[in-house]
Amino acid sequence: MKVEFLGTGGFHPNEKRQTACIMLPEIGLIFDAGSGAFRVAKHVQTESLDLFLTHAHLDHICGLTYLITLPLTGRIKNLRLYGRAEVLDAVRDHLFTDMVFPVAPPFEFHELVDERELMLASGNRIEWMKLTNHPGGSTAYKLHLKNHTFAYVTDTTVDGSYEEFVRDVDTLVHECYFPDSKKDWANRTGHTHATPLANLARKANVEKLVVVHTDPLDESNDPIGTKDMQAIFPNITVAEDGLSLDLN
Ligand SMILES: [Zn+2]
Ligand SMILES: [Zn+2]
Repeated sequence: MKVEFLGTGGFHPNEKRQTACIMLPEIGLIFDAGSGAFRVAKHVQTESLDLFLTHAHLDHICGLTYLITLPLTGRIKNLRLYGRAEVLDAVRDHLFTDMVFPVAPPFEFHELVDERELMLASGNRIEWMKLTNHPGGSTAYKLHLKNHTFAYVTDTTVDGSYEEFVRDVDTLVHECYFPDSKKDWANRTGHTHATPLANLARKANVEKLVVVHTDPLDESNDPIGTKDMQAIFPNITVAEDGLSLDLN
């Protein structure tokens, strides 16, 4: 099972990273639709897409508008959009309006309620958890594949509240906007910095950490100071657009 990193930066695109979008083409699953979502069309393998939003900040939803070409060209029959009620409301009330983007793709809206998990049509179970350390909140997801668990956590500072949620996952995809030198900025903006993330990965016993949503002002290969993190947790990859991982 492949996972394609279509957008790996935060806030705004730069030459290396569009904003948040991750896709598992074989099961038609997408997490977030930032500017990287323009690449979804190249990877479509299914007639249905299940798209889970973490929250409604622009760097995670602006690419919803790009998806309109998929049903128009007949390539996609079902476009299901999942999120917390307030996230879906924000998309309907503020993005798809006459003044901003007047034609909405034919989304089926699916509100995530308190059951905290659902079974996808592909037969894979997905769990979610609300995160509160970011303006407006965010949502963590955990996907259960046949031989692999995959968690996606973005737009939050690290705290112990979701350590159990990500415990023992095979792949943890987690934001890290800032290096430790900008820790005050991380706390002020509701984002993650390097050392607490490495500690979380170690304490939660995850197998592999993939870092996304880095600061777009730093286009280097290592915007967060991975060497220091690896002294705590060695198995770290800092994602760039085009990264493709095999989850077997
Ligand atoms: Zn963001
Ligand atoms: Zn955000």
